[in-house]
Amino acid sequence: MKKLSLFSPGTIANISCGFDVLGVALDEVGDVMHFEVTDKPGWQISEIKGADLPLDVAKNTAGVAGLSLLNTYKSQGGDPPGFSLMIEKNIKAGSGIGSSAASASGAVWGLNELLNRPFSPLELVSFAMEGEKLASGVAHADNVAPGIFGGFTLIRSYEPLDIVALPCPDDLYAVVLHPQIEIKTQDARSILKTQLSLRQATTQWGNLGGLIAGLYTNDYGLISRSLVDVVVEPIRSLLIPGFDELKKTMLESGALGAGISGSGPSVFGLAQGNDQARSIAQAIEINYRQWGIDFEVHCAKINTQGIKMIQA
Ligand code: ADP
Repeated sequence: MKKLSLFSPGTIANISCGFDVLGVALDEVGDVMHFEVTDKPGWQISEIKGADLPLDVAKNTAGVAGLSLLNTYKSQGGDPPGFSLMIEKNIKAGSGIGSSAASASGAVWGLNELLNRPFSPLELVSFAMEGEKLASGVAHADNVAPGIFGGFTLIRSYEPLDIVALPCPDDLYAVVLHPQIEIKTQDARSILKTQLSLRQATTQWGNLGGLIAGLYTNDYGLISRSLVDVVVEPIRSLLIPGFDELKKTMLESGALGAGISGSGPSVFGLAQGNDQARSIAQAIEINYRQWGIDFEVHCAKINTQGIKMIQA
Protein backbone atom coordinates (compact mmCIF):
# COMPACT_ATOMS: atom_id res chain seq x y z
CA MET A 1 0.00 0.00 0.00
CA LYS A 2 1.44 3.39 -1.04
CA LYS A 3 -1.43 5.68 -0.13
CA LEU A 4 -4.35 5.78 2.23
CA SER A 5 -7.06 8.10 3.48
CA LEU A 6 -8.85 7.79 6.78
CA PHE A 7 -11.53 9.34 8.96
CA SER A 8 -10.36 10.12 12.49
CA PRO A 9 -13.29 10.79 14.81
CA GLY A 10 -14.01 13.49 17.30
CA THR A 11 -14.23 12.15 20.83
CA ILE A 12 -15.86 13.09 24.13
CA ALA A 13 -13.52 12.61 27.07
CA ASN A 14 -14.45 12.29 30.74
CA ILE A 15 -18.20 11.69 30.09
CA SER A 16 -19.15 13.30 33.43
CA CYS A 17 -17.99 10.73 36.02
CA GLY A 18 -14.82 9.46 34.28
CA PHE A 19 -12.34 12.35 34.48
CA ASP A 20 -9.15 11.37 32.61
CA VAL A 21 -10.20 7.71 32.33
CA LEU A 22 -13.28 7.53 30.05
CA GLY A 23 -13.80 8.56 26.45
CA VAL A 24 -16.07 7.80 23.53
CA ALA A 25 -15.76 8.16 19.74
CA LEU A 26 -18.32 9.91 17.53
CA ASP A 27 -19.56 9.14 14.03
CA GLU A 28 -19.67 11.84 11.33
CA VAL A 29 -17.75 14.46 13.33
CA GLY A 30 -14.04 14.13 12.54
CA ASP A 31 -10.97 14.91 10.47
CA VAL A 32 -9.89 13.35 7.19
CA MET A 33 -6.22 12.48 6.72
CA HIS A 34 -4.42 11.50 3.51
CA PHE A 35 -1.09 9.63 3.68
CA GLU A 36 1.40 8.94 0.95
CA VAL A 37 4.63 6.95 0.87
CA THR A 38 7.32 9.20 -0.65
CA ASP A 39 10.74 8.70 -2.26
CA LYS A 40 12.07 11.46 -0.05
CA PRO A 41 12.94 9.95 3.36
CA GLY A 42 11.47 11.39 6.55
CA TRP A 43 8.03 12.32 7.88
CA GLN A 44 6.39 15.52 6.79
CA ILE A 45 3.07 17.31 6.91
CA SER A 46 2.54 18.76 3.44
CA GLU A 47 -0.70 20.67 3.98
CA ILE A 48 -3.43 21.36 6.53
CA LYS A 49 -6.83 22.50 5.24
CA GLY A 50 -9.43 24.13 7.48
CA ALA A 51 -7.17 25.29 10.32
CA ASP A 52 -4.12 27.41 10.92
CA LEU A 53 -1.83 24.85 12.57
CA PRO A 54 1.92 24.29 12.28
CA LEU A 55 3.24 22.09 9.46
CA ASP A 56 6.43 21.52 11.48
CA VAL A 57 6.18 17.89 12.67
CA ALA A 58 7.74 18.82 16.02
CA LYS A 59 4.93 21.32 16.68
CA ASN A 60 1.91 19.41 15.42
CA THR A 61 0.23 16.62 17.42
CA ALA A 62 0.05 14.43 14.28
CA GLY A 63 3.75 15.04 13.65
CA VAL A 64 4.91 14.33 17.21
CA ALA A 65 2.79 11.18 17.52
CA GLY A 66 4.07 9.97 14.13
CA LEU A 67 7.68 10.66 15.14
CA SER A 68 7.20 8.64 18.30
CA LEU A 69 5.99 5.65 16.25
CA LEU A 70 8.70 5.96 13.59
CA ASN A 71 11.51 6.33 16.17
CA THR A 72 10.33 3.17 17.93
CA TYR A 73 10.08 1.36 14.59
CA LYS A 74 13.67 2.34 13.77
CA SER A 75 14.93 1.43 17.25
CA GLN A 76 13.53 -2.06 16.64
CA GLY A 77 15.55 -2.41 13.43
CA GLY A 78 12.91 -1.14 10.98
CA ASP A 79 13.84 0.94 7.95
CA PRO A 80 10.74 3.02 7.12
CA PRO A 81 10.23 4.78 3.78
CA GLY A 82 9.34 8.49 3.70
CA PHE A 83 5.77 9.57 4.47
CA SER A 84 3.81 12.70 3.79
CA LEU A 85 0.50 13.68 5.33
CA MET A 86 -2.29 16.06 4.34
CA ILE A 87 -4.92 16.87 6.98
CA GLU A 88 -8.45 18.19 6.45
CA LYS A 89 -9.33 19.62 9.88
CA ASN A 90 -13.04 19.57 10.55
CA ILE A 91 -12.72 19.71 14.34
CA LYS A 92 -11.57 23.06 15.66
CA ALA A 93 -8.55 23.10 18.00
CA GLY A 94 -9.49 23.80 21.61
CA SER A 95 -13.10 22.68 21.09
CA GLY A 96 -13.06 19.94 23.71
CA ILE A 97 -14.01 17.27 21.21
CA GLY A 98 -10.52 15.95 20.76
CA SER A 99 -9.11 17.95 17.86
CA SER A 100 -5.48 17.41 18.85
CA ALA A 101 -6.23 13.74 19.58
CA ALA A 102 -7.92 13.12 16.21
CA SER A 103 -4.70 14.23 14.48
CA ALA A 104 -2.42 12.27 16.82
CA SER A 105 -4.37 9.02 16.74
CA GLY A 106 -5.08 9.27 13.01
CA ALA A 107 -1.38 9.80 12.29
CA VAL A 108 -0.19 6.70 14.15
CA TRP A 109 -3.06 4.55 12.87
CA GLY A 110 -2.33 5.52 9.25
CA LEU A 111 1.44 5.01 9.55
CA ASN A 112 0.87 1.62 11.20
CA GLU A 113 -1.30 0.51 8.27
CA LEU A 114 1.30 1.65 5.71
CA LEU A 115 4.03 -0.22 7.61
CA ASN A 116 1.90 -3.43 7.64
CA ARG A 117 0.75 -3.15 11.25
CA PRO A 118 3.88 -3.68 13.32
CA PHE A 119 2.22 -2.18 16.41
CA SER A 120 -0.77 -3.16 18.58
CA PRO A 121 -3.65 -0.75 19.30
CA LEU A 122 -2.27 -0.29 22.83
CA GLU A 123 1.14 0.72 21.44
CA LEU A 124 -0.58 3.11 19.03
CA VAL A 125 -2.30 4.78 21.99
CA SER A 126 1.03 5.29 23.75
CA PHE A 127 2.53 6.94 20.62
CA ALA A 128 -0.55 9.13 20.17
CA MET A 129 -0.31 10.22 23.82
CA GLU A 130 2.96 11.98 22.92
CA GLY A 131 0.91 14.23 20.64
CA GLU A 132 -1.48 15.01 23.51
CA LYS A 133 1.51 15.90 25.66
CA LEU A 134 2.47 18.51 23.07
CA ALA A 135 -1.07 19.96 23.03
CA SER A 136 -1.80 20.08 26.74
CA GLY A 137 1.39 19.27 28.64
CA VAL A 138 -0.13 15.99 29.87
CA ALA A 139 0.12 12.67 28.01
CA HIS A 140 -3.52 11.75 28.57
CA ALA A 141 -5.21 8.93 26.65
CA ASP A 142 -8.92 9.56 27.13
CA ASN A 143 -9.37 11.07 23.64
CA VAL A 144 -6.82 9.03 21.68
CA ALA A 145 -7.92 5.64 23.07
CA PRO A 146 -11.55 5.78 21.83
CA GLY A 147 -10.31 6.96 18.41
CA ILE A 148 -8.03 3.93 18.14
CA PHE A 149 -10.21 1.28 19.85
CA GLY A 150 -13.66 2.72 18.92
CA GLY A 151 -16.73 3.10 21.16
CA PHE A 152 -16.28 3.75 24.87
CA THR A 153 -12.87 3.12 26.41
CA LEU A 154 -11.73 3.02 30.02
CA ILE A 155 -8.13 3.80 30.94
CA ARG A 156 -7.91 1.33 33.83
CA SER A 157 -4.32 2.36 34.51
CA TYR A 158 -1.71 4.70 33.04
CA GLU A 159 1.29 2.90 34.53
CA PRO A 160 1.31 0.39 33.05
CA LEU A 161 -1.06 1.53 30.29
CA ASP A 162 -4.14 -0.71 30.48
CA ILE A 163 -7.14 0.12 28.29
CA VAL A 164 -10.52 -1.60 28.38
CA ALA A 165 -12.78 -1.34 25.31
CA LEU A 166 -16.34 -1.21 26.66
CA PRO A 167 -19.54 -2.36 24.94
CA CYS A 168 -22.16 0.16 23.93
CA PRO A 169 -25.96 -0.04 23.52
CA ASP A 170 -27.01 0.01 19.85
CA ASP A 171 -29.12 3.09 20.01
CA LEU A 172 -26.87 5.55 21.82
CA TYR A 173 -26.33 9.02 20.33
CA ALA A 174 -24.46 12.12 21.41
CA VAL A 175 -25.36 15.76 20.91
CA VAL A 176 -22.57 18.31 21.28
CA LEU A 177 -22.86 22.10 21.40
CA HIS A 178 -19.58 23.85 20.71
CA PRO A 179 -19.59 27.52 21.73
CA GLN A 180 -16.94 29.19 19.59
CA ILE A 181 -14.77 30.37 22.43
CA GLU A 182 -11.42 28.76 23.12
CA ILE A 183 -10.59 27.11 26.41
CA LYS A 184 -7.09 25.64 26.41
CA THR A 185 -6.87 22.19 28.04
CA GLN A 186 -3.88 23.48 29.96
CA ASP A 187 -5.93 26.35 31.46
CA ALA A 188 -8.94 24.13 32.20
CA ARG A 189 -6.61 21.80 34.12
CA SER A 190 -4.87 24.48 36.11
CA ILE A 191 -8.09 25.59 37.86
CA LEU A 192 -8.95 22.12 39.21
CA LYS A 193 -8.55 21.27 42.87
CA THR A 194 -5.93 18.63 43.54
CA GLN A 195 -7.65 17.16 46.60
CA LEU A 196 -11.07 15.52 47.00
CA SER A 197 -13.20 14.73 50.01
CA LEU A 198 -13.92 11.07 50.66
CA ARG A 199 -17.57 11.79 50.00
CA GLN A 200 -16.85 13.26 46.55
CA ALA A 201 -14.62 10.29 45.76
CA THR A 202 -17.22 7.67 46.72
CA THR A 203 -19.94 9.49 44.77
CA GLN A 204 -17.71 9.70 41.71
CA TRP A 205 -16.57 6.07 41.67
CA GLY A 206 -20.12 4.87 42.38
CA ASN A 207 -21.27 6.71 39.27
CA LEU A 208 -18.33 5.52 37.17
CA GLY A 209 -19.08 1.91 38.12
CA GLY A 210 -22.78 2.53 37.42
CA LEU A 211 -22.12 3.98 33.97
CA ILE A 212 -19.91 1.06 33.00
CA ALA A 213 -22.45 -1.47 34.30
CA GLY A 214 -25.15 0.37 32.32
CA LEU A 215 -23.07 0.08 29.13
CA TYR A 216 -22.62 -3.66 29.68
CA THR A 217 -26.30 -4.31 30.41
CA ASN A 218 -27.88 -1.83 27.94
CA ASP A 219 -29.58 -0.22 30.92
CA TYR A 220 -30.37 3.33 29.76
CA GLY A 221 -31.86 4.20 33.16
CA LEU A 222 -28.65 3.27 34.95
CA ILE A 223 -26.57 5.13 32.34
CA SER A 224 -28.75 8.17 32.92
CA ARG A 225 -28.52 8.06 36.74
CA SER A 226 -24.74 7.66 36.55
CA LEU A 227 -23.98 10.66 34.32
CA VAL A 228 -23.07 12.84 37.29
CA ASP A 229 -19.80 14.66 37.99
CA VAL A 230 -19.21 16.08 41.46
CA VAL A 231 -15.47 16.64 40.97
CA VAL A 232 -14.69 18.61 37.81
CA GLU A 233 -17.96 20.00 36.43
CA PRO A 234 -18.74 22.30 39.39
CA ILE A 235 -15.44 24.12 38.75
CA ARG A 236 -14.98 23.91 34.99
CA SER A 237 -18.56 24.81 34.17
CA LEU A 238 -17.80 28.34 35.39
CA LEU A 239 -15.67 28.80 32.25
CA ILE A 240 -18.60 28.02 29.92
CA PRO A 241 -21.16 30.81 29.38
CA GLY A 242 -24.72 29.49 29.87
CA PHE A 243 -23.63 25.99 30.97
CA ASP A 244 -26.31 25.46 33.64
CA GLU A 245 -29.18 26.47 31.39
CA LEU A 246 -27.80 24.49 28.48
CA LYS A 247 -27.59 21.37 30.62
CA LYS A 248 -31.11 21.95 31.94
CA THR A 249 -32.45 22.34 28.38
CA MET A 250 -30.78 19.08 27.34
CA LEU A 251 -32.22 17.18 30.31
CA GLU A 252 -35.70 18.68 29.81
CA SER A 253 -35.58 17.61 26.14
CA GLY A 254 -34.95 14.01 27.15
CA ALA A 255 -31.15 13.68 27.38
CA LEU A 256 -29.98 10.73 29.49
CA GLY A 257 -27.42 13.09 30.97
CA ALA A 258 -25.30 16.08 30.02
CA GLY A 259 -21.93 17.52 30.96
CA ILE A 260 -18.71 19.10 29.75
CA SER A 261 -17.02 17.45 26.80
CA GLY A 262 -13.35 16.99 27.70
CA SER A 263 -12.01 20.24 29.05
CA GLY A 264 -14.74 22.28 27.34
CA PRO A 265 -16.06 24.59 26.09
CA SER A 266 -18.20 21.96 24.27
CA VAL A 267 -21.13 20.57 26.22
CA PHE A 268 -22.45 17.09 25.42
CA GLY A 269 -25.65 15.20 26.05
CA LEU A 270 -26.27 11.48 25.51
CA ALA A 271 -29.57 10.32 24.04
CA GLN A 272 -31.42 7.10 23.34
CA GLY A 273 -32.18 7.07 19.63
CA ASN A 274 -31.73 9.45 16.73
CA ASP A 275 -35.13 11.15 17.16
CA GLN A 276 -34.41 12.02 20.77
CA ALA A 277 -30.96 13.31 19.82
CA ARG A 278 -32.42 15.51 17.05
CA SER A 279 -35.02 17.04 19.36
CA ILE A 280 -32.33 17.84 21.96
CA ALA A 281 -30.23 19.43 19.20
CA GLN A 282 -33.19 21.54 18.11
CA ALA A 283 -33.96 22.71 21.66
CA ILE A 284 -30.38 23.80 22.41
CA GLU A 285 -30.02 25.55 19.04
CA ILE A 286 -32.93 27.78 20.02
CA ASN A 287 -31.90 28.17 23.66
CA TYR A 288 -28.24 29.04 23.15
CA ARG A 289 -28.87 31.96 20.76
CA GLN A 290 -29.47 34.27 23.76
CA TRP A 291 -25.75 34.25 24.66
CA GLY A 292 -24.64 36.07 21.53
CA ILE A 293 -21.81 33.56 21.03
CA ASP A 294 -21.39 31.72 17.72
CA PHE A 295 -21.83 28.01 18.14
CA GLU A 296 -22.10 24.72 16.28
CA VAL A 297 -24.26 21.75 17.18
CA HIS A 298 -23.22 18.20 16.27
CA CYS A 299 -25.49 15.22 16.50
CA ALA A 300 -23.81 11.82 16.06
CA LYS A 301 -24.25 8.15 16.72
CA ILE A 302 -21.63 6.59 18.95
CA ASN A 303 -18.87 5.29 16.68
CA THR A 304 -17.99 1.76 17.74
CA GLN A 305 -15.33 1.28 15.05
CA GLY A 306 -13.13 4.32 15.74
CA ILE A 307 -10.75 5.41 12.98
CA LYS A 308 -11.96 4.22 9.56
CA MET A 309 -10.14 3.74 6.30
CA ILE A 310 -12.01 5.68 3.62
CA GLN A 311 -9.86 4.91 0.61
CA ALA A 312 -6.96 2.50 0.19
P1 ADP B 1 -8.72 19.82 21.89
O1 ADP B 1 -9.30 19.24 23.15
O2 ADP B 1 -9.81 20.38 21.01
O3 ADP B 1 -7.80 18.91 21.19
P2 ADP B 1 -6.46 21.12 23.10
O4 ADP B 1 -6.45 22.42 23.83
O5 ADP B 1 -6.18 19.86 23.84
O6 ADP B 1 -7.86 21.07 22.33
O7 ADP B 1 -5.40 21.16 21.93
C1 ADP B 1 -5.33 22.18 21.04
C2 ADP B 1 -3.88 22.69 21.00
O8 ADP B 1 -3.05 21.76 20.29
C3 ADP B 1 -3.81 24.00 20.27
O9 ADP B 1 -2.88 24.83 20.94
C4 ADP B 1 -3.24 23.62 18.90
O10 ADP B 1 -2.50 24.66 18.32
C5 ADP B 1 -2.36 22.42 19.22
N1 ADP B 1 -2.20 21.52 18.07
C6 ADP B 1 -1.06 21.13 17.52
N2 ADP B 1 -1.29 20.29 16.49
C7 ADP B 1 -2.61 20.15 16.36
C8 ADP B 1 -3.45 19.42 15.48
N3 ADP B 1 -2.96 18.69 14.50
N4 ADP B 1 -4.78 19.50 15.67
C9 ADP B 1 -5.29 20.26 16.67
N5 ADP B 1 -4.56 20.97 17.53
C10 ADP B 1 -3.21 20.92 17.40
